[in-house]
Amino acid sequence: MNINNVAFEKSFGTSLQLPTSTLPEIAFAGRSNVGKSSLLNKLFNRKSLAKVSQTPGKTATINFFSCDGVRFVDLPGYGYAKVAKSEKGRWSELIEGYFNQDRNLALVVSLVDIRHPASSLDENMIEFLQEAELPFAVVLTKADKLSRQQQMKQKAALKKQLKLHADVPLVVCSSEKGTGIDELRTVIKNAAR
Ligand code: GDP
Repeated sequence: MNINNVAFEKSFGTSLQLPTSTLPEIAFAGRSNVGKSSLLNKLFNRKSLAKVSQTPGKTATINFFSCDGVRFVDLPGYGYAKVAKSEKGRWSELIEGYFNQDRNLALVVSLVDIRHPASSLDENMIEFLQEAELPFAVVLTKADKLSRQQQMKQKAALKKQLKLHADVPLVVCSSEKGTGIDELRTVIKNAAR
């Protein structure tokens, strides 16, 4: 897979609009503001493939990108407290609708902020992935905000909190500094084969 061949496909406002799954899919999920857009841009070496915003709680959509026969799925960021109830409903429709479909999931990349304990929504997401036996990896974002020593400490604490099985890839990343990006690309390439 050549990351330079990525192209935006389409945005969807409801899961009913999603086309049937044909290509293997790599889906990205995480709390709003966790750094998902920044990570996608860094993965593909693009400035604005995915929109980075200073204000969390953007409109909920599922965005499809494709790259050499693999589809990348940007799921809406969850858990932003200040959005209207109707928007929260749209979020759950989209994300639950996506996972309830019989999609060709190669990997779910679940993003968690390295600085804090995982939120209950993060716990729910990872518990769901583990129980559904879906292939997934966890990315700890914004590592540049901590020292190396703090990163290692938080990595161990989050692994324990999230009860991650030993075979789940756990990658410490910084989109700011580029830390962990090659490691994540390798995890993705192995899953998409
Ligand atoms: P999203 O809502 O999950 O898509 O998050 P964004 O990518 O829009 O990022 C949310 C905020 O976190 C922005 O202000 C980013 O500049 C910042 N951010 C994202 N990734 C990093 C990172 O690796 N390091 C630091 N220091 N800030 C980051």
